Amino acid sequence: MVQQNIVRVVNPNDLEVIRKSKNYLSRIVIRDGLVLHSKNTDELIHALFPTLPTSFTVITDSTVNKTYGLKILGIFSKIAKTNLIVVSPGEKSKTFRSCLKIIRELSRLNVDRDAVVVLLGGGVVGDLGGFAASIYKRGIRQVHVPTTLLAQIDSSIGGKNGVNTADGKNQVGTVRQPDAVLVDPKFLETLPSSQILNGIGETIKYGVIASSAIFKSLEENCPFRVQDLSRLVEPCCRIKARVVSKDEFDLNFRSILNYGHTIGHAVEASSHYKLGHGLAVMIGMLCEGWIARELGIFESSDFTRQNALIKKILPKSTAPRLSAMASKSIRRYALGDKKNTEGKLMMSLPQKIGKMHSTATGSYRIEIPLQMVEPSVAYAKTALNTEK
Ligand code: ADP
Ligand code: ZN
Repeated sequence: MVQQNIVRVVNPNDLEVIRKSKNYLSRIVIRDGLVLHSKNTDELIHALFPTLPTSFTVITDSTVNKTYGLKILGIFSKIAKTNLIVVSPGEKSKTFRSCLKIIRELSRLNVDRDAVVVLLGGGVVGDLGGFAASIYKRGIRQVHVPTTLLAQIDSSIGGKNGVNTADGKNQVGTVRQPDAVLVDPKFLETLPSSQILNGIGETIKYGVIASSAIFKSLEENCPFRVQDLSRLVEPCCRIKARVVSKDEFDLNFRSILNYGHTIGHAVEASSHYKLGHGLAVMIGMLCEGWIARELGIFESSDFTRQNALIKKILPKSTAPRLSAMASKSIRRYALGDKKNTEGKLMMSLPQKIGKMHSTATGSYRIEIPLQMVEPSVAYAKTALNTEK
């Protein structure tokens, strides 16, 4: 069954279309300067919310708050009463404990069911605050204002949120579409290069799973300037919006977005979340790409091309960090992945750059023999230790 009216990318200049787009669960608005340099953001918010919320509560982390907090409070407080909740930055904040703290704060601020939560920050704020908003009073509306490359092209779109548990990343969460996502690549100008690098992992993924044009542009523009990456934000968002609209609840097609993530998440967890998500996903693509090639699914020349780009981008320090991880630990985490069924390891794999593999019955997930995980990690370790 194809679902409709899930996510729509709308043009910020066309307020009439935005008003009419309220039958979509989620609207994505993208433009350079949309939030930071626009004079009519309040008109945009009025168009997105014809019935005004009782209040806004901006949730952000302390780093983002220092640079952008006042600016964003200024925009939303022109429209309705606006509160601020600040959490500590970093993946370690993505816990039940922090979620409960946010919920207590929302209660203390008397935030009601007609209020809107504004999630200003990277994936951590979006996932954690989005989860809190999705369960507070059985769910209140949210607007995402993503400030990292990773959040702009990936985590803010599609409604998945969550927190980590001792068993792994994002083990608890919900799917609830944000009413709107305001994407302004201008935020990327203050983002540290390590965080930019982290987002690049997902752009490579979009290239491999759905767009040879994105992949080519990455090959041509490496090493990257922020402007080159800003131009890739919209095409990546459009891919994500299209995939989510086809399969909101991850029944089949949406799993293509998980390429590199089964082993990527396992690597991330094995590093105790010290290795960034995007870097872990790049390693995950080396491993899962190897599995795909071994199974005769991924064209060998495209596998080589994928790896050449990843090796060019990954910092040198990644090789010893991966080498220090026990392949067994990675295998154990991979087996706990959410996409697995009945203890079987399931993955989505590429056929060539720009196209994912599907089976004769149309499934984008295939079962992977568990014994392939450790050799795939060994492959990645060797690949990263050989000269670029
Ligand atoms: P991700 O989006 O990769 O999940 P986080 O949410 O952990 O990452 O954000 C990464 C770090 O970057 C955090 O310390 C956060 O405070 C900081 N950060 C987020 N956006 C910006 C920005 N636009 N400029 C500077 N620092 C930022
Ligand atoms: Zn990811």
